[in-house]
Amino acid sequence: MDRESTKDNALTADLADKSGNESISAAEQANEVHSEALNRLSQHGHKYTGGRRRLVQALLDANQPITLPEIVASDPGLTQSSTYRNLDVLESSQIIRRVIANGDHTHFELAEPIVDHHHHLICLDCGTICDVHLNEDLERLVEQELSSVAASRGFVPSHHSMDLHGLCPDCQVPETGSRPARVPPRPSGV
Ligand SMILES: [Zn+2]
Ligand SMILES: [Zn+2]
Ligand SMILES: [Zn+2]
Repeated sequence: MDRESTKDNALTADLADKSGNESISAAEQANEVHSEALNRLSQHGHKYTGGRRRLVQALLDANQPITLPEIVASDPGLTQSSTYRNLDVLESSQIIRRVIANGDHTHFELAEPIVDHHHHLICLDCGTICDVHLNEDLERLVEQELSSVAASRGFVPSHHSMDLHGLCPDCQVPETGSRPARVPPRPSGV
C-alpha cells in the first residue's frame, strides 16, 4: 500500500490540477509556482529577480511550451538578452525545461513536478509543441515496463519522457479538393 501510494505521488505530483477540480484558482496556482521557483533558486544560490519572475509568469500564462521570441513578445518588460540569461539560470535550477522540436524550434516550459507529468505532440513542419496528458493507468503501465527494462540492464531510472512527432492540423496538406473540416480544440480544464 505504501509502495502504491508512493508511486501514485510520483506519477501525479503536481501543482497544476488538470482533473477539472476547480478548488485551486489560477491565482493560487501561480502563487505556488512562484514560491516553488523562489525555493529552487535560493537552493541554487540565485535570487528571484523581477525579470525571472516575469519570465516564469510568461510561461505560466502561455500554458504550453513557447519559444524565446514568443516569451519576449508576450511581455514588453522582458528583453531578449536578459531573458536568454535568465532562461539558463531557471533551467539549471530545474524550474523550467527545454523541449526540442526539429531544427531550431527550442521551446521552454515549466519543469515537472512544478507542472504535472505530461507528454508532447511535436509538429515536424512548423515545430509547434502541444502538451498532452495520458491516463494514469497507462502512465503506470509505461513506468512498470520501463522500470523492468531498466532493472534488466542494471540501470537506475529517474524519469521518462515520450513525445509524438507528426503534423499539426495547420500543416497537414489536404489530399485533394477542399480542406477537411477542423475539429475545434476541446477547451482545457473541462
Ligand atoms: Zn505544424
Ligand atoms: Zn510540456
Ligand atoms: Zn509519462
